[in-house]
Amino acid sequence: MIDARQALALLQEGNRRFVGGVRSHDTASEARRAFVANEQTPFAIVLGCSDARVPAELIFDQGLGDLFVIRVAGNIVAPSQVGSVEFAAERFGTRLVVVLGHTDCGAIQATLESLQSRGQPTSRHIDSIVDRIRPSVEALLDTELRNDRAALAHAAVRANVRVAANQLRHGSRVLERLIESESLVVVGAEYSLETGKVDFFEGVP
Ligand SMILES: [Zn+2]
Repeated sequence: MIDARQALALLQEGNRRFVGGVRSHDTASEARRAFVANEQTPFAIVLGCSDARVPAELIFDQGLGDLFVIRVAGNIVAPSQVGSVEFAAERFGTRLVVVLGHTDCGAIQATLESLQSRGQPTSRHIDSIVDRIRPSVEALLDTELRNDRAALAHAAVRANVRVAANQLRHGSRVLERLIESESLVVVGAEYSLETGKVDFFEGVP
């Protein structure tokens, strides 16, 4: 299995291809499907948002078998997400975990609105997502950012990614051990809906 640095380089190269409009041809071919049918060796684990505009395989120009992807609104870390990351890291020896937020995230926006008491009534299930994002972004409302909606949203996305990455680093004995003894690396990144670019802004080795 390739190490975290190599995996990161593959993602960065793939994202450059995506931004440049150059796609690999063999991402979902019949030959490739046959090749991975009996075994998967994903080189990166991606915890990303469910937003329809941010499919990890496309924005990193990767194919069948390359990425182990967990998607949930707001790329939050709840027990089942931690379990999924643990599973892939242990089972497949994958050494890079990416927490991938994105600009203009609806889950982040909904959380900010609920904190500013502008939110719509929702369900307890949606609340369970907002409740996980709230602690990451709450403090931002005590700063000058509260007067600048765009800047606030931008900072909130990154704060939520940072907290999620730290939860993965410290909220699991399995992952903690893999970080200490097997060079597992958790990085935080933000995808721009406008440019298509992924900025790895946190924890890069
Ligand atoms: Zn989102």
